[in-house]
Amino acid sequence: MKKQPFQLIGTTIPAGRKTIVNLETARLHTHNKIEVPVIVERSKNDGPVLLLIGGIHGNEINGVEIIRELISRKYNRPTAGTVICIPALNVFGFLNQTREFPDGKDLNRMFPGTQNGSMASLFAWNLMNNILPAADYIVDFHTGGGNRFNSSQIRVAKEHPELQELAAIFAPRFIVTAADREKSFREAATKLGKKILLFEGGKSLDIHNRITQRGVNGVLRLMNHLGMRDYSAEIAAMPAVDPIIIRQSTWIRARHGGMFRFHVKDGAKVMKGDTIGSISDPYGEFEKPVKVPENGYIIGLNHSPIVYQGDALVHLGKE
Ligand SMILES: [Zn+2]
Repeated sequence: MKKQPFQLIGTTIPAGRKTIVNLETARLHTHNKIEVPVIVERSKNDGPVLLLIGGIHGNEINGVEIIRELISRKYNRPTAGTVICIPALNVFGFLNQTREFPDGKDLNRMFPGTQNGSMASLFAWNLMNNILPAADYIVDFHTGGGNRFNSSQIRVAKEHPELQELAAIFAPRFIVTAADREKSFREAATKLGKKILLFEGGKSLDIHNRITQRGVNGVLRLMNHLGMRDYSAEIAAMPAVDPIIIRQSTWIRARHGGMFRFHVKDGAKVMKGDTIGSISDPYGEFEKPVKVPENGYIIGLNHSPIVYQGDALVHLGKE
């Protein structure tokens, strides 16, 4: 049986080898073209198409690192189907080490985008029209914003039982049920019927080895489950993870401004009344404990040493 040619951005992708195509998104006033490298590995055997995307927020480097690690170890080379990797979509933010585009726009609030909108909107449109139609499954890699460190977690909406099952296969520390954000990539992809998992782990402008490993392991588990490559030996060597399902979450906020120190680990289980840190002035005059208002898990932790009154300190997840 003759196979259908697989096309991406007008390029026929040959089977059995690595192809890099460029997503041409815009042209700068310096005449430079803005091109986003898209790394495609297509097997000679038919199978699902998995899209791995990082750096929608340009400073969320750990997501970029997970995809880079997968590529450098050739884990993105399937024996069935196709893996499309876009390690750093928001190249502006990646270069400038900022979350947003140069005009301050958050790409993840611009989907599905338009061809004649802002630069971020154009990026969104390009991704939706040139890449997304080819994908069956997507993992969108993020980290906590600013100094907020997220324990490894997959976010899925509660009305998608199939995605919850895929999230369990991925096996992050937590599966957090959270509604799609309006105009986000996740919402736009879901509307097109794509199966999308949103991975959160680590914090901005940071590479954390444990988070990278969790992300890499999750992709291997997913590819194995989808029949894209047999990773059973690698999976057998991974530490077993039984993800905890978080159905509700709340932020513990600073009652006082000051210097914040914590003595819990991300992911830890905490009980109501536990002291998990303290806030003080710089002069040794006062130091107030930060207590947990109810039982839960630390799914996110503010690593900022200085906080204002009302700042989010701890993201507390409840089963
Ligand atoms: Zn993000």
